[in-house]
Amino acid sequence: MNKLPSISSIIEPEKVKQIMDAIDSAHNILITTHLSPDGDAIGSSLALYHFIKNKDKKVRLIVPNSFPYFLKWMDGINEIEIFEYNPAAGLTIIKNSDLIFSLDYNVSKRVGEMGPHIESSPAKKILIDHHPLPGTNFDIIVSKPEISSTSELIFRLLFQADKYDEITKAEAESIYCGMMTDTGGFTYNSSDPEIYEIISLLLRKNIDKDMIYSHVFNNYSEDRFRLLGFTLSQRMKVYPELHSALLYLSKEDQKQFKFNKGDTEGFVNYPLSIKGIVFSTFIREDEGIIKLSFRSQNDFPCNKFASELFNGGGHLKASGGEFKGTFEEAIRIYIEGLKKYEEILKEAIKGE
Ligand code: 5GP
Ligand code: MN
Repeated sequence: MNKLPSISSIIEPEKVKQIMDAIDSAHNILITTHLSPDGDAIGSSLALYHFIKNKDKKVRLIVPNSFPYFLKWMDGINEIEIFEYNPAAGLTIIKNSDLIFSLDYNVSKRVGEMGPHIESSPAKKILIDHHPLPGTNFDIIVSKPEISSTSELIFRLLFQADKYDEITKAEAESIYCGMMTDTGGFTYNSSDPEIYEIISLLLRKNIDKDMIYSHVFNNYSEDRFRLLGFTLSQRMKVYPELHSALLYLSKEDQKQFKFNKGDTEGFVNYPLSIKGIVFSTFIREDEGIIKLSFRSQNDFPCNKFASELFNGGGHLKASGGEFKGTFEEAIRIYIEGLKKYEEILKEAIKGE
């Protein structure tokens, strides 16, 4: 084989060894990921799941609630268990596990009802994540906010552990899918040259990256597409002087377009393509809760905005939060927030 690209060892070598040893000595391994799992959550979890399963070890993968339909093509997707559908079975699995992986989330609050059960479990706990501010209740913490996806971290873990040869096509597809979705198809957060070295290593596993793109981004229903058009034309407010834009969808709006989970994924990115907009927000009325998504450019700290006003968090340029109250209240708090952040928003545009 031709010489492989070299990848720097950003995970501490002793942690790589500890994680591999923990996998080898565990009997019942559980992989978990965050609420409303996205491509990176599912991609990183499935890659690690396949890797462990191929070692003939017992491994389960539980996610708190369901994931979007455009991930359903992935190998192993039907083996994922959804906690919300059968909490009793989920709790039994957590209780029987002696090693628990927490992937793509920093604190147990992000796995909803599973959180306290994972926290109180005597199992060994390993966090692998790229969100800032990791919790402390873990035995091994691999927290790398500078890396754009947890899927990339799983690749790096296996590569550093000298397991590149063992990576299967299914694992490579999952990793690629997570890297691709967390960078918007490598359009943001993706300037690290090593990302492309890793992609070249994944392509050597015979993955079809165009097919993966198509499965994820060209797989929408007609209703979803019309919902996007409706949202952009009827449910967008632009605040040019604050360099911000808001998209918002009520329950009623969503019903009109037969909303399916995942249908609004990516909507929040669109307003950033308007000249002069550095901060985009999407507010969606969900079951008993208001969900908020934030995206920014030029280093506007949307995770600070999310944590200060909406009990949320995330990355500097991609964050989210929740609000318990009415849809109208959430919009009002958002507008007040914009005024509060006026100086920082104006500062951010200067970086253009
Ligand atoms: P999205 O807008 O795609 O739902 O979320 C973007 C990012 O924001 C996620 O990767 C996650 O880091 C963060 N995030 C989303 N929702 C929440 C939330 O309710 N709480 C916290 N702490 N972070 C969130
Ligand atoms: Mn992620």
